Amino acid sequence: MIVMKFGGTSVGSADAFAQVAQIVKDAVAHDGTSAQPGVVVVTSAMSGVTNMLIEAAERAARGDESFHQAQQDSLLLKHQVVAGRLVEDGSERAALTRIFEQRLAELDRLCSSIAVLGELTARGLDVVSGLGERMAAPLLATVLRAAGLRAEAIDATELIVTDNTFGSAAPLDKLTEARCRERLLPMLHSGIVPVVTGFIGATVENVPTTLGRGGSDYSGALIGAALHADEIQIWTDVNGVMTADPRIVPNARSLHQLSYEEVAELAYYGAKVLHPKTVTPAIEKKIPVRVLNTFEPAHPGTLIVEKTHVEAKGTVKAITAIRNMNLITIAGRGMMGVPGIAARTFGAVARTGANVLMISQSSSEQSICFVVPEASAREVISALREDFQHELERHYIDDIHGMPHINIVAVVGSGMRGTPGLAARVFTAVAAAGLNVIAIAQGSSEANISLVVVDADVTSALRAIHDIFELHVPTEERAHKL
Ligand code: ADP
Ligand code: ASP
Ligand code: MG
Repeated sequence: MIVMKFGGTSVGSADAFAQVAQIVKDAVAHDGTSAQPGVVVVTSAMSGVTNMLIEAAERAARGDESFHQAQQDSLLLKHQVVAGRLVEDGSERAALTRIFEQRLAELDRLCSSIAVLGELTARGLDVVSGLGERMAAPLLATVLRAAGLRAEAIDATELIVTDNTFGSAAPLDKLTEARCRERLLPMLHSGIVPVVTGFIGATVENVPTTLGRGGSDYSGALIGAALHADEIQIWTDVNGVMTADPRIVPNARSLHQLSYEEVAELAYYGAKVLHPKTVTPAIEKKIPVRVLNTFEPAHPGTLIVEKTHVEAKGTVKAITAIRNMNLITIAGRGMMGVPGIAARTFGAVARTGANVLMISQSSSEQSICFVVPEASAREVISALREDFQHELERHYIDDIHGMPHINIVAVVGSGMRGTPGLAARVFTAVAAAGLNVIAIAQGSSEANISLVVVDADVTSALRAIHDIFELHVPTEERAHKL
């Protein structure tokens, strides 16, 4: 049994839908021979739709009462064009139109009340932003039926049970597993292809939630793990996971294999190709994850497994960058030798709920720097100023400040473990390009080295590091040269 997740671009146009239908048909045709048959499809919203929905809700909150109506018209058209091209059956088309109209009427009601209240809550935003998947899944199921398959759309609010952290809800594993099995296995046994909405879930009380932007990958993995699938396939618009984002580093190359650990590091540090939590459900059940290209389905893409074959010492696999960060510094001569400053610092940060992505303490102990998302910076700085009020007044600590426009560039590869000199090579590459490295740190797993650079330097840093490690050369060939 396989779970196939299709991303926004894979369902971005009528041509893309037709391509997806062919890929799913081929998978179903090959599935007959597998010991545990079945194909589950998970879909994102059509590309651009989630952004349109969020914009409609935000404009409504600012008092704009008409913007969402214009969005409703273009959303209806966007979906109807696909149905018009690929669904011939009149009653199927009429049923789809009713679904689209229901969803858009829901958008209308939600945006109207947001406009009246003048406030957009995280809970309200989750209902709005999940509407795109709730249109795409019925559309894809109908397109698959028009292509001759037995397919049925399922709303993941029936399957994925989460806590109530709106905007990035955490799934409750046991309940999710039970619901997925109860609802999907009978369908698979009767030869139906379930087409599940990605991105969304619901609390135990049935309040809609979302798993965070890009979360459909995670939905696919959660469903795959719940069903003990043989493989989880992530179908996207590039040939698998590459040595860098091909939009930034033009000679990036696709990687045949990666470990769960490597991919988790890459995704955590901003490689958009996979949602950071995607491999978590797969790890426990050791389910292989394959990243494939909808627009070049014959390309083998990337296979993500527990341990990769090529594990030559010193091999860097890929690089990535995470943007919109802030570097916070606590500095003061009086900090030297005062025990507990670091513990108190991170205690204060933890209370704000901010995510610390990188820490670096200078050996002279006169400063501590760490990186948090820009969105958390203000709250973190005021929490620290409050906690260290006494030290600030007495000048044990001179300053607590943030530096915006920060990026972390992460160099990733399990083969980097125990290899001296890699950090020096990273530095040499970046210095030779005339760029300034603000801070550097090595992950405790030793599968990554990360460095901090400003916005203006990030593209050049990525390209320079990609070049110095010759990442455009296949991993196997580089391994021989080492
Ligand atoms: P989908 O809509 O299929 O989920 P996304 O846009 O979320 O697709 O992710 C695919 C995009 O991720 C690619 O088009 C590419 O620009 C970007 N990307 C960033 N880093 C990488 C990487 N290391 N390998 C491949 N793609 C990457
Ligand atoms: N549609 C959602 C988003 O744009 C989820 C996804 O595409 O994975 O974030
Ligand atoms: Mg994505």
